[in-house]
Amino acid sequence: MNTARIRDNLLSVQDRIADAARRSGRDPASVTLVAVTKKRPVAMVRPLVEAGMLDLGENYPQELWEKVDALADGPAAIRWHLIGHLQGNKARRTFPMVRVIHAVDSLKLLRTLDELAGEVADPPAVCLQVNTSDEEAKHGWKDAAVLTDADAIAACSRIRLIGLMTMAAYGTDAETARPSFIRLRAIRDALAGRIGRPLPDLSMGMSNDYEAAVEEGATLVRVGSALFEGVDS
Ligand SMILES: *Cc1c(COP(=O)(O)O)cnc(C)c1O
Repeated sequence: MNTARIRDNLLSVQDRIADAARRSGRDPASVTLVAVTKKRPVAMVRPLVEAGMLDLGENYPQELWEKVDALADGPAAIRWHLIGHLQGNKARRTFPMVRVIHAVDSLKLLRTLDELAGEVADPPAVCLQVNTSDEEAKHGWKDAAVLTDADAIAACSRIRLIGLMTMAAYGTDAETARPSFIRLRAIRDALAGRIGRPLPDLSMGMSNDYEAAVEEGATLVRVGSALFEGVDS
């Protein structure tokens, strides 16, 4: 396996994020790259960790549990992010392993996590998933519908709600995705106003469109395939 290529890919993605941040007058340090390692063997993840990449994202709880276990001998400072759908019955086990749950896609799940947050000292932060691209297949609140749940969301006061997350339509390029990002930021601003709490984070941007996402205010970008380009497993 080509570990030098993984390092090069990582540096290139980090550079592009920093450039996109500067272009839009933002501090590059305000953007956190989450390396999406779903479906990648642990042998491909280790070189990233060795290169200092400590924010790792997984989609599936089961796979997350396995990776957490497999990398338990690595740096204790790894920050795991769950970026995919979480079923309520997997929440309790997943909860203590992760720093951020990106895709809270229903009020029911938010309430479950709020209850769990009341039971532990340092609960993970969460983002609410909003479907800004009009695709039926996506999880989450449909666009501005999240605003109609503002009171119920505000009532979940134990869980640390930090912002919103979206996925642009599949297979689109950055410019097609950009309106989704602009939309998410607007909905975030509106929701923060309604619930009377700051929502500093926007989890948006993947390999095809992360630079546009950063230009539009992303604080968490979830990049997978761009990090593993040209790398044989
Ligand atoms: C797979 C995935 C990513 C990363 O996608 P790439 O195109 O490989 O960068 C980001 N976010 C979510 C929710 C994903 O499922």
